[in-house]
Amino acid sequence: MSINQTPTPKASRAVLWFRRDLRLTDNMALVHALADTAEVLPVFIWAPEEEELWAPGGAGKVWLHYSLESLLRSLQECGSTLCLRQGNSEEQLLDVARSVGATHIYWNRLYDPALIERDKKIKDNLKREGFTVASFNSALLVEPWEIKTGGGGPYQVYTPFWKTVSRSYIERELHSAPSLIRSPRTVVKSSQLTDFQLLPEVHWDRGIKESWNIGEHAALKQLKNFETGSLAEYTETRNLPGTAGTSRLSPHLHFGEIGPAQIWTIIKAARQQQKSAAALASLETFLKEIVWREFAHHLLFHFPHTTSEPLREKFKTFPWEENPGNFTAWTKGQTGYPIVDAGMRELWHTGWMHNRVRMIVASFLVKHLLIPWQKGAAWFWDTLVDADLASNTLGWQWTAGCGADAAPYFRVFNPILQGEKFDGAGGYVRRWVPEIAALPDRWLHRPWEAPEDELVRASIKIGVTYPLPIVDHGEARERALDAYEEIR
Ligand code: FAD
Repeated sequence: MSINQTPTPKASRAVLWFRRDLRLTDNMALVHALADTAEVLPVFIWAPEEEELWAPGGAGKVWLHYSLESLLRSLQECGSTLCLRQGNSEEQLLDVARSVGATHIYWNRLYDPALIERDKKIKDNLKREGFTVASFNSALLVEPWEIKTGGGGPYQVYTPFWKTVSRSYIERELHSAPSLIRSPRTVVKSSQLTDFQLLPEVHWDRGIKESWNIGEHAALKQLKNFETGSLAEYTETRNLPGTAGTSRLSPHLHFGEIGPAQIWTIIKAARQQQKSAAALASLETFLKEIVWREFAHHLLFHFPHTTSEPLREKFKTFPWEENPGNFTAWTKGQTGYPIVDAGMRELWHTGWMHNRVRMIVASFLVKHLLIPWQKGAAWFWDTLVDADLASNTLGWQWTAGCGADAAPYFRVFNPILQGEKFDGAGGYVRRWVPEIAALPDRWLHRPWEAPEDELVRASIKIGVTYPLPIVDHGEARERALDAYEEIR
């Protein structure tokens, strides 16, 4: 559906507050602003302190910079602009709205606990000031309050949640991007994007820039490539970190460069074209992953304390250990377990890590090293370009065994066997841990067991050119199980 603004004599003007909905396609606040008013002024406000502990981390800020740059270009192509402000969001909105004589202020909803509180307050205050204020859903298929279990409470188990969402979600018509946005002629004070200082002074972000195309156009292209490429084999390839078997849409989704409604509709349409049972199963599996994201938002909304506390109360007394040396080895990809080290280095270089490897490295931190999951979540928060409060919290609590529908704590991933199973040919480890790349497949995931002549041939000195394992798998597993016994 096209949403070009029709010239109307209406004197009304809207301020459109962009947040994590950095797109023009199927952006519901934009659709309504264009429909309800004659002129629209897009605004972005940089106010990280309002996100409290969960202001964007280093990698997220880099993504945000380029995503805003891309949005600004798209808006300019529509004859509009993006007013950039920093400081208290409510004060900035009021100031911008008054400067252009706006009557309406619209935005799309966010679901992080601190932002829900903030937005409620801002909405009430702006209404009191006489503005027409409205918020919309552009980020989820189903908002957290829209579905309930049979007992009337929130879902805590994924499968029934999936069943309800897939049954009850009604596809709506998608809105294409406008080609014209009329904006007020009044010159409004605006910062430069560089004033936000989102990019680091020391350029550690080069790997992120090399690894990604950022912005709405890139997101749509990424979905198209995935849909016509590896999607049909997703069920088989999604667990193989050495292949491009997943969509890599997570940062685009986090920043709202694409929305789940767009993905759902495109994948459902692709389903009509598919005949092969395996490909149909892959499409279904992919939609289920999209609904894991919905589940994460549902949980965060109903259990907001879980960003820092375990959902399952008994884990409050879990005997975690602080071990700064082991934590540093984990962050630097120097644990001596190649699959763990490959994941942590991929994360540092690209700002992303494959889901299978996220589970392995997270399990290693909380079970092999007994380091609190919150420390791992904080590291991910700073280093992931897709760092998302809902999905990160769910991912860590799931792995640590203390969240909703979590992996049982007593199931301890063996990093050697996980590596051999999911990276048997070693492409992933060889890429990210080049110092052991010359080892034959047989020893690649257990280099410390390689015979001396193989190590010499591969120019490896265990403990010198590549570390010995910082913990022994068998001993660490026993220690983790003993720790679990204490709270069982
Ligand atoms: P695909 O396999 O192509 O899946 C498509 C989309 O479905 C993803 O983009 C994502 O939006 C959603 N999705 C897939 N798996 C999950 C999941 N388990 N939970 C929630 N949504 C999911 N995802 C984030 O977006 N941000 C995070 O901060 C984050 N932290 C995580 C931390 C841990 C410890 C773990 C185990 C998982 C975490 N995930 C997080 C979930 C998952 O790893 C990523 O969403 C996925 O790897 C993104 O790659 P993709 O887009 O290629 O995924």
